[in-house]
Amino acid sequence: MEDKTDKLIDLRSDTVTRPSAGMRAAMAAARVGDDVYGDDPSVNRLQARAAELFGHEAALFAPSGTQSNLIALLTHCQRGDEYIVGQEAHTYKYEAGGGAVLGSIQPQPIVHQPDGSLALEDIERTIKPDDFHFARSRLLALENTLGGRVLEPAYIGAATALAHRRGLATHLDGARICNAAVKLGIGPREAVQGFDSVSVCLSKGLGAPVGSLLCGSRAFIKQAMRWRKMLGGGMRQAGILAAAGLYALEHNMARLAEDHDNAARLAHGLADITQIKVSAPQTNIFYVDLPAELCPALRAALARKGILARITPHTRLVLHLDVTRAQVDKTVSAFKQFFAA
Ligand SMILES: *Cc1c(COP(=O)(O)O)cnc(C)c1O
Repeated sequence: MEDKTDKLIDLRSDTVTRPSAGMRAAMAAARVGDDVYGDDPSVNRLQARAAELFGHEAALFAPSGTQSNLIALLTHCQRGDEYIVGQEAHTYKYEAGGGAVLGSIQPQPIVHQPDGSLALEDIERTIKPDDFHFARSRLLALENTLGGRVLEPAYIGAATALAHRRGLATHLDGARICNAAVKLGIGPREAVQGFDSVSVCLSKGLGAPVGSLLCGSRAFIKQAMRWRKMLGGGMRQAGILAAAGLYALEHNMARLAEDHDNAARLAHGLADITQIKVSAPQTNIFYVDLPAELCPALRAALARKGILARITPHTRLVLHLDVTRAQVDKTVSAFKQFFAA
């Protein structure tokens, strides 16, 4: 099933990963049923596994992380409520304003600290008193990892405790929480402690083709199911996809460490180039600052060598299971050749 795109070194995102042979075999063998009736054994197994893994009572399989986050916003917040969120957070910046459009929920963005966290003072100051002039502060939404940066458990503990003390619920956009857990050397359950709900992407570094999991209490997930239905996210013989998710959780979590090593190796290799500035990767994502005038030529030079990257003055490079160590070295050479010319 090789096609020539298999040979590309695609550093644009970890969403570009393709299901491996083992994953495809698991998908082909999946037992299925109509999941809207709750009949799909593979979906049920995936949801039970996710609940267990992330230490919540229940979980819901959603077609995408965007929908899973939106379901969470709609479940936590009512019309006229607001959620406190980072200016760069996916749930604020990259989800087409879904909470506002579909839920009449107001985002209250806060500027991130350099480490990706939201300062506790900023959160505290932003929570609005009960006054009819204001939207009702209802939810704190954090993201881990954010641009590849890991939030420390001590910070999460303090931020979620603050939110709860002030009567807010807490949601984690944990699209890449498994990267954070692996980096910290802790279990997924520990990595999401303090959150009332968590959304986890299966379709990024974990390598599944489709799908996210929303975890929360039984009552929360029951409500979430209604929102998923309303958003058109109910799927029928979704066990084919759930089987990929189960495979991903079982086989592709611990190996995320290889992606982190490859990111470090790539960053280290690029750091020798004097014309660019390389950030220190914590997980599988890091950034390179490049002279703007060189971007189009660099993009083309890399593409000629089969390396795909969204080259901008602030380029994001993303490592994942379809990029090997040898390909990392090839990428370093390609960059060096370009900047030596
Ligand atoms: C990718 C991503 C999502 C959304 O996932 P999709 O499946 O692409 O909709 C949400 N949050 C973060 C941080 C992401 O990186």
